[in-house]
Amino acid sequence: MRQNTLSIHSENILPIIKKWLYSSHDIFLRELVANACDANKKLRVLRDCGQAAADDEPFEIQIQVDPEKKTVTISDNGIGMTEEEVEKYIAQIAFSGAEEFLAKYKTQTEKDPMIGHFGLGFYSSYMVSAKVELQTLSYKPDAKPVFWSCDGSTMYEIGEGTRTKRGTDVILHLDEASIDYLEDKKLRDLLDRYCLFMPDPIALNGQSIGNEAPLWIKPPADCTDEDYLSFYRKLYPEDHNPIFWIHLNVDYPFRLQGILYFPKAQRQFDNMGSSIRLFCNRVFVSDHCRDFLPDFLTLMRGAIDSPDIPLNVSRSYLQIDHNVKQLGAHISKKVSDRLNALFKTDREKYVTCWPELESLVKLGLLQDEKFYEKIKDVVIWKNSSSQWTTLPEYLDRAKEKKVHYSDQEKAAPIQKVFLDQGIELIYTSSPIDVAVISSIEHKMSDVPFQRVDSTLDPSLIDESREKSLLDADGKSLASRIADYFRTNLMDANLEIEAKSLASDSLPGLVLLDENMRRLRDYLVLTQGKAPNQQFKKTFVVNTNNKLVQAAYRLADKHPQLSHDLTRQIYDLSRMAQKEMEPSEMEKVVAHNQQLLEQLTALVQ
Ligand code: ADP
Repeated sequence: MRQNTLSIHSENILPIIKKWLYSSHDIFLRELVANACDANKKLRVLRDCGQAAADDEPFEIQIQVDPEKKTVTISDNGIGMTEEEVEKYIAQIAFSGAEEFLAKYKTQTEKDPMIGHFGLGFYSSYMVSAKVELQTLSYKPDAKPVFWSCDGSTMYEIGEGTRTKRGTDVILHLDEASIDYLEDKKLRDLLDRYCLFMPDPIALNGQSIGNEAPLWIKPPADCTDEDYLSFYRKLYPEDHNPIFWIHLNVDYPFRLQGILYFPKAQRQFDNMGSSIRLFCNRVFVSDHCRDFLPDFLTLMRGAIDSPDIPLNVSRSYLQIDHNVKQLGAHISKKVSDRLNALFKTDREKYVTCWPELESLVKLGLLQDEKFYEKIKDVVIWKNSSSQWTTLPEYLDRAKEKKVHYSDQEKAAPIQKVFLDQGIELIYTSSPIDVAVISSIEHKMSDVPFQRVDSTLDPSLIDESREKSLLDADGKSLASRIADYFRTNLMDANLEIEAKSLASDSLPGLVLLDENMRRLRDYLVLTQGKAPNQQFKKTFVVNTNNKLVQAAYRLADKHPQLSHDLTRQIYDLSRMAQKEMEPSEMEKVVAHNQQLLEQLTALVQ
């Protein structure tokens, strides 16, 4: 057995960086501006501890395009490099000077960290360049200017440079495929995207890009509502104002700062691209927050900055990173905390905001078990007294441990039967509620949800008036009425029952079993339709209703009128419960007319 060391050659590495490490070529600019900021920052640190001479020259970063030479130059007036340092930091790929500097000046850099730490950012310039040159002059008193040039092969040139002032120029000779980076607009868009919150002033071709300090670094106590709103407008100039926000400031178990906004609901689903932006030490990393946040949180907006997230690299890497996963869990917790706090301290505002929050909360409880646990008692429902209630409050008032609900807020006749019996109803409001109810029911295992039109609740029956007395043929009046409706309606897909309902005014009820209904709602939600004949319904005829009694009584004397009345009673019930297909309307109107003609003939 022998042991040996794997040898890695730089000629293999550059093509790998070019192809795989970064998900987009645009990133080169971010990396080089970040290096320039770091170079300035390092000099600031050295000055602060008296290791570099102090002067008043403001730090800045210049990006200059030369269309003729086809170059883009990124210049800083920071720390610069000596020849030795160029050999060490630039010529040795993956040797990060930032790491080394951080280790040395740990305490000074803790509050305001460096951006780079991988030692690969500089090489991203080869994604767009045929050749890269450096002109650099170190801050050290007797330093000589250095020139370095490399065309991406393993050979480089190093020698005396021409820079007369402290700092570094990185000169990119763009390759043919990357010529469009000479366009001012393209570079400006990239700087706006990636460098908007970088610490030093940045100018492109002499014009400032207007970058500024991000609001998230300010202590929350010092931020006004207007600060939050104007920061939001900076991030999303086209958007309506958000409804409220969370200022994140975490040190442990990972570092995280940021501001998350709950946007107005109508904007939530458009333009998903401009959702939460992820930054690392003020450098924009990604707005594909789907890669690092659970789906429901992507409905939020804002910016988060975490130095513990790798700044470089592609989406697939983000997905597997442990810190990235924890970040999602942490944000989910913060969101639920914020909602709970608002519910407790200002229920009125919570209720007003609910339409904007509803989809986020409901998606969240479906997608995230922990979020469900935290949020379940602040999910609110409109009830039959036009109040907003939580389920625990509802169950406190309810006589039995069951949730009666309806999908129609309007006082449909069927609801009256429940209300007459003092049973409170809650109303569902959106298609997602089908899934929400199933999920809550599953988790609260002992509290079933029952839609008003799913089964005949025993509390709706008045036993004292049941027509159960048997006649000479051994049949009760109730079963004769049921038979009569069955014969007249002639629908194999329909069960008919005749019951003594507590409320007299309702002629009949169309019922569909709760599970069947959920299946039907699910099919409508996912496929747009659910074939009616697959769902067997029950029509409950109310033996205490005058119209029902009349229809039955008229059977011998006016068979046609009686037949048409049974039909009409059924159609009206279906109409009231929205169980009628629009295509049937024409037929129903014709029947209705015939019925009225017969009635007017009788009274003439
Ligand atoms: P990282 O930024 O992750 O450390 P880079 O490959 O981008 O890695 O850079 C390697 C090192 O080269 C940096 O850590 C720094 O020491 C040095 N360097 C790069 N750009 C500059 C610059 N503009 N001024 C001074 N030093 C620089």
